[in-house]
Formats: sequence, C-alpha cells, structure tokens
Amino acid sequence: MRKVLVVSRSFGQVVSIGEEILVKNRWEVRYVRDEERPLDGPKLAKIVARENPDAIICGVEPITAEVLRASDKLRMVMKHGVGIDNIDLNAATAQGIVVANVPQANSEAVADLTIALMLMLLRSLYEAVSSTKAGGWNRYIGHELGKMTVGVIGTGKIGTEVIKRLQGFGATILAYDIAPNPDLISKYGVRYVTLEELLETADIVTLHLPLTEDTRGMIGVNELKRMKKSAYLINTSRAEIVDEDALYVHLKTRQIAGAALDVFSREPPGPSPLLQLDNVLPTPHIGAYTVEAIDRMDRICAETIIAVFQGECPPNVLNPIAYFNNLAKWPS
Ligand code: NAD
Repeated sequence: MRKVLVVSRSFGQVVSIGEEILVKNRWEVRYVRDEERPLDGPKLAKIVARENPDAIICGVEPITAEVLRASDKLRMVMKHGVGIDNIDLNAATAQGIVVANVPQANSEAVADLTIALMLMLLRSLYEAVSSTKAGGWNRYIGHELGKMTVGVIGTGKIGTEVIKRLQGFGATILAYDIAPNPDLISKYGVRYVTLEELLETADIVTLHLPLTEDTRGMIGVNELKRMKKSAYLINTSRAEIVDEDALYVHLKTRQIAGAALDVFSREPPGPSPLLQLDNVLPTPHIGAYTVEAIDRMDRICAETIIAVFQGECPPNVLNPIAYFNNLAKWPS
C-alpha cells in the first residue's frame, strides 16, 4: 500500500471526496496533526522522515530540498492549489520527484473574492457595516465599479476570470502581461498597455501574477509612486510581488487610497504594521476557499497522484522531465 502525507490545511477538511478516491485506490492517507503546526522546513522534514510517504499533498508549506530528501520513498509532491513558489522545483527535479499543481480549479473563487474586495473598497463596506453595528448611521458615499478603470496585472487564468466579471460591470479594463492574450482584447475589450501606463491610469490595480524571480518586488516604491492618490491596490496573488514596507508608507501617508490584501509575507501576519492601517482590508488567504474550488482541487489532487503512480504523466505535472528521466522507477 502506498502512503500520502497531507500537509495542506484544506485537503480532506471540507470535502471527503479526495480521500475517498485515494483510499479506493489503496492509498493510505495520513495527515499532519494540528498541534504540529506551524511548520517550517526543518520541522516538516522531521515529520516527512517519520512518515516516509510516497507522495505529499501540500498547500503553502515550505517544501525545501531538506523536506524532499527526508523520505527515501518520496516520488511526488502534489500542490493543493496553483502557486508553487513554496516548492523547491529544481531540487525536486534533480531528485526525480514529480511536482504537479491544480491549475484553474480555483480561478473563479479567487476572481469572486477580487471583485468582492473591489466593491468593499469602493463602497467602504467594512466601515459601513462596523459603524452601523456600533449604533452609528454614517452614510458613506462610494463609487460605481462600472465607472472605474481597472488595471489587471497578469491575465492568465485568474486574471481572465476577473476580466470576465469586470466586463459585466461595464468597467474600463487595462491589462499588463508578458504574454498578452488576444482573445481578451476581442472578447472583453481589454486594452493591453505598459506597466507604467496601467499604474498611472487605473483607479484599481489588481495583481494576478505568480511569484517568480521576475515578479518578486515588481511593485516597489517607483511603481507605487506612479499610482493615483485615489487608487486602490488589490493583491490576491503573493505578498512578495509587492514591497510591503513601501506599501505601508504609501498607505499611511495616503499616497494611494487603500489596499485589499489576501496574502502576506508572513502568514499569519502577526503584528504586521499593515494591519494597523484603517485603509487596509486584510483577508486570511481565502482566495481559493470555496467549497466548489476545494472540491475540484481535492479530486484533481487525488486523481493526479493515482495517474502518476499508474505510470501516466498528466498535463498538470510541472516537471515532466523528472518523470521521464525516472521512467524505470514508475510501475508499468
Ligand atoms: P496563470 O499562470 O494562469 O497566470 C499568470 C499570468 O502572469 C500569466 O498570464 C503570465 O504570462 C503572467 N506573468 C508571469 N510573469 C510575469 C511577469 N514577469 N510580468 C507580467 N506578467 C507575468 O496563474 P493563475 O492561475 O492566474 O494564478 C496567478 C497566481 O495567483 C498564482 O501563481 C498564485 O500565486 C496566486 N493564487 C492565489 C490564491 C489565493 O488564495 N489568494 C489562489 C490561487 C492562486
């Protein structure tokens, strides 16, 4: 019987279908215990050494070279999500460990949250709800999303879902991406512009990029300076794409109007100064947290693991070379 260690906080916690699929296919499913969290690399490596799994299902936990070396049986890391910046892909590939993710399954969930955050910022919803509950009757004047110019940075799967929704509201949509998608121009009237033009023109800037060496710190002091004083920044991608210290200063001094952040450089962020600002709307990395998205992700994780261990290489394997270089190790 093969063993999978579930490190992710959400796999198997909301729906049972993923675990059921694995068990039906004769997999033993083990979970990291709550009292073992929070997990850093060395702690996780010890747990992996103790469990010695064939596969790991991870969320945002650090899958370092040390973790990858900790089980002599480990042949696969399955990301319960999209962003793989927490996984040392080079080390995995060098060790012949297959890494796969679940693209698309949570795009609509993240896009829904993004639009919700835009509306909350534009209508001061957080303040309106809290002040009314506290007995106040403060009638905030807001803006209509349909009259805004929204700059979408990153027009992949999530960015596209955001654009579809924005078109429904009638917003003017600007976009920036290293690989523009011509369909978005013809279908949704998106106008691709330079990053500089987007930052200078948009009323709302929303980030939908992976964290890579190129995108780390992409929105720094100079980029924030270009934004309008009345503009909002929304980050549901990865915290490290934005210089958090610079963002704090720009928000504190009202050089931009506000920000909604679903991601932090440390999660949970602890006593982050960003949380003290009244023009920051923080959420606890819940972009993908809908029953529907988690159901899809759990199923795809289970099915991908089973496929790989049955000798297939599905398209969501991110380092097929690790698979093909080690064909002899996989069952035929
Ligand atoms: P995707 O790969 O479909 O799209 C990413 C887009 O970014 C692509 O179009 C790509 O061309 C573009 N891009 C990459 N590098 C760039 C650069 N240097 N400059 C400009 N454009 C660049 O990914 P996706 O499914 O849309 O997800 C985007 C990110 O959202 C993920 O990598 C993940 O970090 C994050 N995410 C967050 C949550 C959450 O819970 N908040 C959930 C899912 C995904």
